[in-house]
Amino acid sequence: MGAKDFIGSLFLKELLQGMAVTAGYFFKPKITVQYPEEKTPMSPRFRGLHALRRYPNGEERCISCKLCEAVCPAMAITIEGAEREDGSRRTTRYDIDLTKCIFCGFCEEACPVDAIVETHIFEYHGETRGDLYYTKQMLLANGDRYEAEIAKNRELDAKYR
Ligand code: SF4
Ligand code: SF4
Repeated sequence: MGAKDFIGSLFLKELLQGMAVTAGYFFKPKITVQYPEEKTPMSPRFRGLHALRRYPNGEERCISCKLCEAVCPAMAITIEGAEREDGSRRTTRYDIDLTKCIFCGFCEEACPVDAIVETHIFEYHGETRGDLYYTKQMLLANGDRYEAEIAKNRELDAKYR
């Protein structure tokens, strides 16, 4: 240790330098986000909790083509379908196991009728594995609940493609 360093350490030079940096930042505006009261902006392409959408007349969009099931790399989607009396084809079962899902968005990309989508919702949890197994009714309920926001995000997303 040189004489200069010795004198510096004697007068706690490095400690005082550190305290000067702390004091410099003490009165500056804080940039820490106070989650959950404050939230950061979110992209319309954010891929959160899934939802199944309906048309404005209440009819389910999904036509049970199974493209989403086929494209899902995690094999998280299970679909069964049947023909209705009016000749249209609809799902009788549409399940997503969110413990398998990797939120890649392939399902919504593949869907020809914008039926399966991923919402902006990320604040959900399950206390058992079964809580994260979403059935058709749960997915439709998500769609009904968040339709206004989903429609707005789809419109914004389309603009930037
Ligand atoms: S987001 Fe990806 S992994 Fe999840 S269900 Fe859709 S296709 Fe499968
Ligand atoms: S959600 Fe879309 S891609 Fe999947 S089965 Fe229904 S219509 Fe086909």
